Amino acid sequence: MSETPNRLVTAVILVAAGSGQRLGYGMPKAAVPLGGEPLLTHALRGVVASGISSQVCVALPAGDDGLRRLCQDFREELADGGPVLTIVDGGATRADSVRAGIAVLMEGIEAVLVHDAARALTPESVFHRVADALAAGAAAVIPAIPVVDTVKTVAATTGQDSALAPEIVTGTAPREELRAVQTPQGFQLSTLLKAHEASRALDEKQSAAVTDDAMLVEMVGTQVFAVRGSTQSLKITTPLDLILAEGLLEGPLGTRWVEG
Ligand code: C5P
Repeated sequence: MSETPNRLVTAVILVAAGSGQRLGYGMPKAAVPLGGEPLLTHALRGVVASGISSQVCVALPAGDDGLRRLCQDFREELADGGPVLTIVDGGATRADSVRAGIAVLMEGIEAVLVHDAARALTPESVFHRVADALAAGAAAVIPAIPVVDTVKTVAATTGQDSALAPEIVTGTAPREELRAVQTPQGFQLSTLLKAHEASRALDEKQSAAVTDDAMLVEMVGTQVFAVRGSTQSLKITTPLDLILAEGLLEGPLGTRWVEG
């Protein structure tokens, strides 16, 4: 792309309604402190700093007054001309939370970026790359990074093999073709609506296997493009991730950290 086309009128759906059980804090993940502030504050700041959105829809755990208040306070701090902040109750699954966000999109929105609040340190440049690809005409675009580990498929062992080991290797994926996929994932609004509408036909097992929005878009046969993500966009899921994120906040961000 030689020059940046005009950006579309864009909303960000920030999904923050997860339980965060794997972090072991006994509170929703969005409320877990990172560098002395809740994860959600970092995530909201990142979205707003990117400057790409006219509206930010935040999906929160239903009935969580603390996080709701945090969002309301953040809304008051937003400078005039910042995005409209809309708060919704999330659902039982991530996809349900995304649909709750879709339901409150403002009139005139042309494109939507769906972003995990758990990727609280995502650099602005990643938002820009996704928004620029949408502006250039992509129907769907995801940030992705190369995979450093060799990735194999496995199956549970059966019969005599189960005395040897719990799993057996069934194949090795070609690493140069593999990417670890992140958020924000961007879609033309019509593409996202079509994908989520089609997902209503999935049974419970199929729905449980849907881990991102791009997967739904792939299912309806629309091409999904990939732009460069960032290791800084790590999904804060386990206590080790939180240590990494704390480490990033304490220093390397912006100096030693070379990925944008
Ligand atoms: O649990 P998982 O890793 O899929 O969570 C990814 C993101 O989706 C997190 O930011 C989490 O808060 C959000 N989520 C949600 N509603 C759910 C489950 C997860 O908004 N029911």
